[in-house]
Amino acid sequence: MAEVVLQNVMKNYGPLYAVNDVSFTVEHGEFVALVGPSGCGKTTTLNLIAGLIPITGGDISIGNRIVNELDPKDRDIAMVFQNYALYPNKTVYKNLAFPLQMRRLPKAEIERKVKAAAAVLDITHLLERKPRQLSGGQQQRVALGRALVRDPAVFLMDEPLSNLDAKLRVQMRSELKRFHHNLDATVIYVTHDQLEAVTMADKMAVMNGGALQQYDTPANVFAEPVNTFVASFVGSPAMSLIPLTAATRGAQTVLTSPEGWELPLSPENARKAQASSTPNVILGARHSTLKLQPTKVPGSVPGKVYTVEPTGDVTFAQIFISEAVVNISLDPSVQIEPDQEVWVEFDQGKMHLFDAETTMALRAK
Ligand code: ATP
Repeated sequence: MAEVVLQNVMKNYGPLYAVNDVSFTVEHGEFVALVGPSGCGKTTTLNLIAGLIPITGGDISIGNRIVNELDPKDRDIAMVFQNYALYPNKTVYKNLAFPLQMRRLPKAEIERKVKAAAAVLDITHLLERKPRQLSGGQQQRVALGRALVRDPAVFLMDEPLSNLDAKLRVQMRSELKRFHHNLDATVIYVTHDQLEAVTMADKMAVMNGGALQQYDTPANVFAEPVNTFVASFVGSPAMSLIPLTAATRGAQTVLTSPEGWELPLSPENARKAQASSTPNVILGARHSTLKLQPTKVPGSVPGKVYTVEPTGDVTFAQIFISEAVVNISLDPSVQIEPDQEVWVEFDQGKMHLFDAETTMALRAK
């Protein structure tokens, strides 16, 4: 186990900064997910930690030792990739034993480590099989086992579940979480799937365009996204964002739409709106915080139903409000139809306000 610290880490390819001034600390035994859209720099960050590519600037330390110049084999890490790269002609036992044989460990110790890893991953009964005789999930467990036998300070995982079908992915997600829990292992895990990050990680590092946007627990990232990018990336369906304009009506601050409706703000939200660099403010709301009303009630604004998607225990509707499409979740018993005129009620305690110019979340002064 070890702490991993990234300080002002940079990696450029010519003019492109694949990783731009990224700093965060992964504590002993933490499971951290690097998450973000394709091309945001997650894999490059992981490869820098692993030592697979040279760093352009900044420092990476593993267990209090700066590793910038160290070879991957000297960093005390083990990697698990989406493509398991098992040796097809070796049994599972030999696949697990191979990295230890390369390190010239005594045979009895190799056997002990392989059996211990197989027990943790519940693959003892598969030790004599060849990879082609295993399911995708079993192969992934062998790949994890191969990392585990090396007893590294840090596990680095790059989309290890993305080759599995949806059902197996959900199952392996729980198994990986259990694996982390049982071993108290330090894990850094790359995924483009925010749901994987939210469900498995102690902390998530949300990246965009090579830059770290937010580093916090999934609960805090969900509750307090720092900007519109994080707000719309984390959560499913995504947080809805409506561009509006703040204005004052006597002592009251309101948000106005180009269509002419006005939404009065609570005193705290008014202070947030007043902190904006310009009157252009983005109103953010998660689907579960909105209420559909058949008629106008205080705190509601007019909208028009776009689509209705029943999923069984919850129905999702998309509603046009001003120039935005807004997601809302409904009890399946609610009957609405496309093109129906509705009113959507906002919860002042759960709405988010962002500065439309900087995209940053507004905080009450
Ligand atoms: P994905 O989820 O698609 O794998 P990612 O977030 O892991 O994306 P990276 O692979 O880290 O993204 O790439 C970050 C950026 O750096 C991308 O714009 C990519 O095109 C660029 N990049 C990565 N490797 C190289 C390279 N060897 N040469 C030039 N550009 C590169």
